[in-house]
Parts: sequence; structure tokens; C-alpha cells
Amino acid sequence: MNFENMNFCQSCAMPMNDEDHGTEKDGSKCEDYCKYCYQNGEFTSDVNMEEMIDFCVPKTAQATGMSEEEARKMSEEVFPKLKRWME
Ligand SMILES: [Zn+2]
Repeated sequence: MNFENMNFCQSCAMPMNDEDHGTEKDGSKCEDYCKYCYQNGEFTSDVNMEEMIDFCVPKTAQATGMSEEEARKMSEEVFPKLKRWME
């Protein structure tokens, strides 16, 4: 896997392939967010960053083989830098 050229969802930090991108209102591809977070120009769920981290930690742990503790530590560093949570 080449992380440098990879797109990460700017809401949940999931690595995105082409088919994982969300959609804008006009049906075009959304560059920043995945289809789980963003569809038809809107976020699919109105959550705050902490809730998103809670939701993602078990999935990240499973996907990467990290412990949930490690996954949470990483998420707490990464998420504040994502576009959705920066303001
Ligand atoms: Zn996402």
C-alpha cells in the first residue's frame, strides 16, 4: 500500500479507493469524504469528533491489527487534522 498517494476521508480517516468516495448534490464525486460519511452533498450523520473516533476505533483496530488503545491514540492525533474537524 502506498499511503502517500492515498486519499483519506477527511471525516473518518478511512483510506479511500475511487469507489469509496461520497457524492455531491449533482451526483459528482466528492474528493474529500467517503460514501459512508457524505452523500448527495451532505454528511450522513451529524456527529462530533469524539463520537466519530468512538465509532472508528474498533474498525481501525480490526483493519490494522492494532489494539483498540493504539487505534484510539492514533485517531486522537489524526482526526483533529482532518478537514471536517479542523474548525
Ligand atoms: Zn468517511
